[in-house]
Amino acid sequence: MSTRTTKISIAIYELISKSNKALSHHDIQKELDGLCNRVTIYRVLEKLLENGKIHRAIDTEGISRYASCKSTCNGDKHHHNHIHFSCKNCKEVICLEDVVPIFSLPNDYEIHEVNFTISGICNKCKNDCH
Ligand SMILES: [Zn+2]
Ligand SMILES: [Zn+2]
Repeated sequence: MSTRTTKISIAIYELISKSNKALSHHDIQKELDGLCNRVTIYRVLEKLLENGKIHRAIDTEGISRYASCKSTCNGDKHHHNHIHFSCKNCKEVICLEDVVPIFSLPNDYEIHEVNFTISGICNKCKNDCH
């Protein structure tokens, strides 16, 4: 990676890790405000995903969003297998890191990526209505 790409990569990673919700490609592009083009952001995101720095969440509209795990990483044993909550009202996607689904697969199936997204109304929006 070039120095410029490295800088962008750090900026994107910081943006994602500081956010308390999962960010879409569009959110990231908006936040970086013309610092780099779509293709660069896409490449950087793919690299961060590959390295396990961030993980992907799919919202109710099928759009990919990116988040980083707040809990401490313990190397290879770390899995991004928690549930994501997609709010129909504010459109935010939140990591529910403490909610991990338990299931068992038939023999010889190996999990690489888990995508669980629950849709509904988040606690912030629910409390706004009352
Ligand atoms: Zn909400
Ligand atoms: Zn997550």
